[in-house]
Amino acid sequence: MRHIEELLPLLTSPQKIFITTHYKPDGDAIGSSLGLYHYLIQNGHEVTVVSPSEIPDFLQWMPGIEHVLNFESEPKMAEKALTDCDYIFCLDFNNLSRIKNLESLLRSANQPKILIDHHLEPEESVFQYGISLPEKSSTCEMVYDFILLDNGSQKINTEIMQCLYSGTMTDTGSFRFPSTTASVHLMIADFKSRGFDHSVIHDRIFDNWSAQRMRFLGFVLSERMEIYPLQKTGLITISQEDIHKYSDNVGATEGMVNYPLGIAGIEKSILLIERKDEVKLSFRSKGDIDVASFSRTYFNGGGHKNAAGGQSKESLIDTKNRIINLLNLKN
Ligand code: 5GP
Ligand code: MN
Repeated sequence: MRHIEELLPLLTSPQKIFITTHYKPDGDAIGSSLGLYHYLIQNGHEVTVVSPSEIPDFLQWMPGIEHVLNFESEPKMAEKALTDCDYIFCLDFNNLSRIKNLESLLRSANQPKILIDHHLEPEESVFQYGISLPEKSSTCEMVYDFILLDNGSQKINTEIMQCLYSGTMTDTGSFRFPSTTASVHLMIADFKSRGFDHSVIHDRIFDNWSAQRMRFLGFVLSERMEIYPLQKTGLITISQEDIHKYSDNVGATEGMVNYPLGIAGIEKSILLIERKDEVKLSFRSKGDIDVASFSRTYFNGGGHKNAAGGQSKESLIDTKNRIINLLNLKN
């Protein structure tokens, strides 16, 4: 993979650019994709953003969201944009299995693929250009670095700042995870000096719940969370039935995995969500506990040391029992 700097001369004339991100996109996935979109269109490029699946409600306010194609509901338009494009940007994922149904189309596409991502262990052979920095807070921060590398500072507008702030904020747990380095605060300081209003983003993302979602969280914390103090672990298990009873919104379980870590003494949290054809696992940890390698070893997953995900083809109960055995969880 060649450094992304070598790509810049190729982008000095208008190109057709396809941007995609991971399945079940989060704030960083959509924020980085749209942040890059708002930058590239100013340089005359024709840009299409494609999400492999539906975008959760809490991101529906983002500037440019109306242009994002959902591959699941608009596969023909997304496929045409891919066929017609000159370059393919892959943001906030580094392994093509993370784009699910879009994987085979992207794998067989001949155009150069460009990686901008901060996860561990990239599938390097797939990408011709790129930058992979696991120590970075977020892909949004990396898009900011990309814009500066391209001498585009004067093109940073409100749309770009709103998108990039959102993903940096959500991926750093509101600037609290150890990944929140000086460079993150310097980026935000730069935004503030340009007159950026950050409070409005917190309002839109965090203070925007339906009463039903708040009740769902209450139900999950009271009925579906188990705490194992001796193993410093919290385990949450949510069935399809629970989800259907409370919510029809794909983002309803977003962030729930973080709650057990708010309990004194808990250093590891696991969330199991039953989906139609698999169980989705989310892991969070503190300090040196490496949940990415655990997920990679046992649940076909990966991610970051303190935040990872995976999946299981076993039933919800069997997956839960497997976790209990692997981690020797006992009350
Ligand atoms: P989440 O629990 O929020 O889905 O994911 C936590 C982190 O792990 C995210 O950065 C996400 O990109 C990554 N991740 C989630 N699921 C997978 C997976 O199946 N494989 C890999 N390699 N990374 C994952
Ligand atoms: Mn990210």
